[in-house]
Parts: sequence; structure tokens; C-alpha cells
Amino acid sequence: MNNIIKELAKKNLEKVVKIRRELHEYPELAFKEFKTAALIKRELDLLNISYKSEIAGTGIVALIEGKEKGKTVLLRADMDALPIEEETESLFKSKNKGVMHACCHDGHVAGLLGAAMILNEIKDKIKGNIKLVFQPAEEGPGGAKPMIDEGILNNPKVDVAFGCHLWPGYSAGKILIKDGPLMAHPTSFNIEIQGIGGHGSTPEKTIDPIIIGCQAIINFQNIISRNISTLKPAVLSCCSIKSGEAGNVIPDKLNIKGTIRSFDEDLTTEILSKMDSILNGLSIAYGSKYKFDVERMYPALNNCKDILEYSKISLSDVVGEENLVIMDEPLMGSEDFSYFSKEVPSNFFFIGLKDEQEEIETLLHHPRLNWNDKYLEISSHSLAKLAYDYLK
Ligand SMILES: [Zn+2]
Ligand SMILES: [Zn+2]
Repeated sequence: MNNIIKELAKKNLEKVVKIRRELHEYPELAFKEFKTAALIKRELDLLNISYKSEIAGTGIVALIEGKEKGKTVLLRADMDALPIEEETESLFKSKNKGVMHACCHDGHVAGLLGAAMILNEIKDKIKGNIKLVFQPAEEGPGGAKPMIDEGILNNPKVDVAFGCHLWPGYSAGKILIKDGPLMAHPTSFNIEIQGIGGHGSTPEKTIDPIIIGCQAIINFQNIISRNISTLKPAVLSCCSIKSGEAGNVIPDKLNIKGTIRSFDEDLTTEILSKMDSILNGLSIAYGSKYKFDVERMYPALNNCKDILEYSKISLSDVVGEENLVIMDEPLMGSEDFSYFSKEVPSNFFFIGLKDEQEEIETLLHHPRLNWNDKYLEISSHSLAKLAYDYLK
């Protein structure tokens, strides 16, 4: 079967590339993936694969049933693009002004459809089911959670989930995997410090929000260095301070915006509580007021150790053991596949796209991002292989 799967991935590559280019030309933003959903439905219809659409808005779940009953594997691709004006010279450059597939999600959808083509063709040899999940809004506000809330992990109940991200910054032909924490839990915050403004020459008649804000920022850094174990990774960055205009006026207000990243939701709760204590203490000391708004985003993405062990064997058949890289460190970025990994044993991995010969932009979310879509053969192949191997 190994060879059959491999040959099918090769045979279908041209179709998969065509799909990717069509998706790239018509990128759509979160929860507006209407054309994208129509294309996915068109391809599933061609393959005679049954599906349910309009899940969490534009999401689609398709089901391939094997000949015999067995477990259920979920394979996931995200569908949304970004509000970026494309600056490449590509032949299939975005036709939607101000919107671009700059995070490879066009490749994710095409790669999963490629895996569907393979698995559908060998379904008589499969014992169990494959659920194909096409998910909206990964770039935010997140489509995984609302899809799970609509029950996509049941009927049939999902036993294991796989997903991958194409990664133009990693060498082409490599697959990167890691057990345990892989991507961070991000939290954004917005603080408003309300003082009393006045003339710069008479600070005694004011409550200066700039002094208070600066102290808050310095003290926040002490939370990471003094209160949190050095063995637990966490980042707290204040990325924006806004206050005042004139050089001789003490302003009324100061705003701070920033982000926290960790791999542990309880740790973030602890950091937020310390930040609140600092803000509260400063407001008592200086007589100011504050508002502290927090938005906690996707949970941390954790890969399951057992699934990783088996994925290693399966994926080394795809790219060769020498091209399977075990990552030492997690990434501080985030991914809402984490909602799947919270519910079922999962593995999320990266597929490198960087061709050392080609001088092209490899940064995700960059207006000139470009990558060679011949590597989609690896994504279709690896997703199909993982599903087939798990069910055998
Ligand atoms: Zn992205
Ligand atoms: Zn992405």
C-alpha cells in the first residue's frame, strides 16, 4: 500500500496544484470563505464524497468511509486568507484586492483535497473512517472551536486528529515534528490609565499617567523575571504606548497594548493576576484609575506523545528518515488546531518549502511570500499516509 499511496500522490499533483492556484487567485477573509467552500464542495462532488457544509458559517466536514468499520481519523485544513495586498509577480496573483493567501492556507486546502483523492481511491482497503475538516477563520477569530461546538468530533466519534502547516522558512522536502508543546497560548491586553492632565510646569497639580504607565511596564517585566519559574517559558511584551501630544502638557490618559505568550493557560492567568495587582497598587499610590481589558485567544497546541511516535514511522516513509526533523523548541506563534488537540490525541506538524536555489520571500504573512507548489505532493501524501497507517 505504501507504494500505491505514494504513486497516487504523484499522479494527483497536477490537479492539486491547479486547485491551489485557483484558491490563491480568490483568497477570502475569515468566515467569508464562500468561493473557497464552493470550490471544496465542487471537488468533493467530483470524488463522490459526502459532506456537510455551512458548519460554523463556511466550514465543511466530509466523510470517507472505509470498507470495514473501524476508528475515525480527522484531517484538518484551514481555509482563510489575510488582509494583505499581494506584491508578487505570480501568474495566479490574488484577484481580490487587499486580500492574500499569505499563510499557505490555499496549500492546506489543496493538500487535504489531494489526501481525499488518495484515500477515496483506496477506501476499499481502509478499516474505519476519515473525516476531512475544512475550517474557516484560523487567522482569527478562530473557526475550530465553533466547529467543535457544532459537534464535528462526534458521529462518528473522532479518535485522532492530524493537521499540518506548510512552512516556507524551513527547508523543502523536510517534515518537522515535535511532541508536547508546539505552539503558544496568546493573550492580548489593552490598558487605560486615567490620570489628571495639566501644565507641564506644575506636575503637583496633576496625576501624571505617563509616570504611572512607565512604572507599570517596568514592573510587568519583573513578573517574568522574578515571579515565574525560569523553567516555564513565557513572554510579556508591551508593544504600544500612546499618550499626550504637546511637549508642555501632562496628558489625562495613557494606553498600553501588548501580548502575553505561554504554553500553559494557568501560567497566563497567574501573570494576568500579577499585572492587575501592579496596576491596582499604582492606582492606590498615585490616585489614578485604570481599565484592564484582556483577550485570551487560542489555547496552547500540545502534540500527543504516543501519536508522535507512530507519526514518526509513518512520515519517515514519506520523506525518508533523514528528512524527518525532530524540533527541539516550540514556536511562540499560535494555531487554533489546538482546540482539536485539547479534545483528542493529535499531531500537528510542519512541511518545509524553502528551496535553497530559489530567491523568494519565505516569511509567512509577507506580501511577497511565494513558494513552489510542487511540494504539495508531500502534504497530500503525508496526510493520506498518516490516516491510512493509523487505521490499519
Ligand atoms: Zn497565519
Ligand atoms: Zn497559517
